[in-house]
Amino acid sequence: MNFDTIIIGGGMAGLSCALRCLEAGLKTAVIASGQSALHFSSGSIDVLAKTPSGEPVSNPMTCIETFAKAYPNHPYATLGKETVERAIDWYRNTLSAIGVPLTSQKNGLNHYRLTPLGTMKSTWLSQPFVHQFPMDLEKNKTQKMVLVTIDGFRDFQPKLAQDNLKQLTQLSALEITTANISLSAFNEIKRNHCELRSIDLSRLLSKRAHRQELAYALQQHAQPGDLVVIPSIFGNGTGLTYLREIEQLTKLTLCEVPTMPPSLLGIRLEESMKHAFIELGGTMLNGDHVVQGEFSYVDKTDPEHSHYRLNRIFTKNHGDFPLQAKHFVLATGSFFSQGLKATVDSMIEPIFGLDIAQSDKRTDWYNHDFFSAQSHPFLNMGIETTAKFQAIKSGHVIDNLYCAGAILSGYNPILEGSGSGVAISSGFHAAESIIDQLKPSYSSTNNNIKAEVAL
Ligand SMILES: Cc1cc2nc3c(=O)[nH]c(=O)nc-3n(C[C@H](O)[C@H](O)[C@H](O)COP(=O)(O)OP(=O)(O)OC[C@H]3O[C@@H](n4cnc5c(N)ncnc54)[C@H](O)[C@@H]3O)c2cc1C
Repeated sequence: MNFDTIIIGGGMAGLSCALRCLEAGLKTAVIASGQSALHFSSGSIDVLAKTPSGEPVSNPMTCIETFAKAYPNHPYATLGKETVERAIDWYRNTLSAIGVPLTSQKNGLNHYRLTPLGTMKSTWLSQPFVHQFPMDLEKNKTQKMVLVTIDGFRDFQPKLAQDNLKQLTQLSALEITTANISLSAFNEIKRNHCELRSIDLSRLLSKRAHRQELAYALQQHAQPGDLVVIPSIFGNGTGLTYLREIEQLTKLTLCEVPTMPPSLLGIRLEESMKHAFIELGGTMLNGDHVVQGEFSYVDKTDPEHSHYRLNRIFTKNHGDFPLQAKHFVLATGSFFSQGLKATVDSMIEPIFGLDIAQSDKRTDWYNHDFFSAQSHPFLNMGIETTAKFQAIKSGHVIDNLYCAGAILSGYNPILEGSGSGVAISSGFHAAESIIDQLKPSYSSTNNNIKAEVAL
């Protein structure tokens, strides 16, 4: 099989890159061996909540402007503010066109979202039913919050969230109550209620009668004007429609909180992107695993200094039948998704054996204090690339293999709250580099994904 671009990895970075390539008319394939980090994510887009040295950031875009000097190895320093801004804008427009509108604060500041543990986390873009609290929590206008869960659902515990919220002195004027509601629909589930996961509830709530029962139960515990916090139990596609329907029925203001995995808010993003990719003509190879690639020298007369070219890749399912493309993108994530692996004494990139920015001593990989505010150095490690994010193997640049997302070195998505921001902007950047070479007349300001994708 022959493509313009093959993207290895179906997470935020790979899918952003894939949609952008497809939009420019490139014949594009995505190979994804398994679930991405989105299945564990809040579904909000973190761009930058803290600098790498731990300073809180209120306006990510202005902060990125000064990155190149202070943190020259950070992906944002290489990408630059203009590319990051353009990529995030493009992503927001694209997601809106495919049915998941994402919004930020009009003043350009981060906002707080509520976590299932009742803490506040700073982020940049959120989905429609994720309540955006101001960074100055004292300016919060909500007077009463009702934390609701479903009887037997273990992945959101309102009392725990309530206790933690009460520790926030800035919210001392906020009245917080909890409610546990039972739904007869669950009698349909034969197994133990304590095994209920968000995905099971989502299936049940696809029936209108069950949603009406939920709406009625919510009205017993809250009044219009209250902020009603419910675990994210509405799935992809129709999920947002159902939430709108319940708001209309009850006149309540709903707020979804992500649950323990599987997180439907994150899955909603992944499924919407995959669905759009397939609808628009992309080739999605789910459940296949890339195992190796075949390279050649660009300049055969000077192998020592020559660049490499990746000609074709081999996968578990396709065995001896390789997949070919003009350009490849590696977006296989970090240790979490096995894009990187650790052996006893080194870290490796398991598909191509790419060069990794790592410390030689294993003791330098982690912090002795497990809960240290400094985080663990291994989270900053990843593959080395050129300034154009091309991969490097044994010192040779691979001209047509771009890298994007959590596999990159030089940043810590967890400490900084920059995971989706780096994934989207590096995926977008990889796509733009490929488009520049294959479709030079394609305008970089085009944003062609229309609402024609039926969710
Ligand atoms: C638990 C957790 C929660 C997070 N929560 C948030 C959040 O709320 N907001 C936020 O902005 N960021 C969050 N992040 C960070 C952010 O999600 C990640 O940084 C970002 O999504 C990484 O995307 P990615 O596409 O680079 O990698 P991943 O999402 O890890 O995707 C990698 C993909 O590559 C595939 N793959 C791996 N190896 C192969 C192979 N050999 N062949 C084929 N496919 C392969 C995997 O199956 C997967 O599909 C979170 C991260 C984690 C770990």
